[in-house]
Amino acid sequence: MQSLQLFEATVEPGSPLKADLGRPPKAEGAFAWPLGLLLSGLALLVSGAVLAGLLVAVVGVVWGLRERDRVEAAKRADEEWQRKMICLVCKKSFVPAA
Ligand SMILES: [Zn+2]
Repeated sequence: MQSLQLFEATVEPGSPLKADLGRPPKAEGAFAWPLGLLLSGLALLVSGAVLAGLLVAVVGVVWGLRERDRVEAAKRADEEWQRKMICLVCKKSFVPAA
């Protein structure tokens, strides 16, 4: 039994084990578009286009929250991956009981 993180470092790059056991991909949050929409929506609101402004702002907020959820899910997956152990006999990975 070994830490998956240590084991993964010893696996050759082309190995199929790498795909199975490799570190989960990082998610970069793309917040520029949601923030831009939110600000555009607010600008529309202020200029009197209330309905369009609200709609655009809400889309920006929902998009921004989804980005945040995506980033946090990737972070949780990475934290879990770092806790994982691997059985060196059957090459199965698992999260050890705390
Ligand atoms: Zn085993």
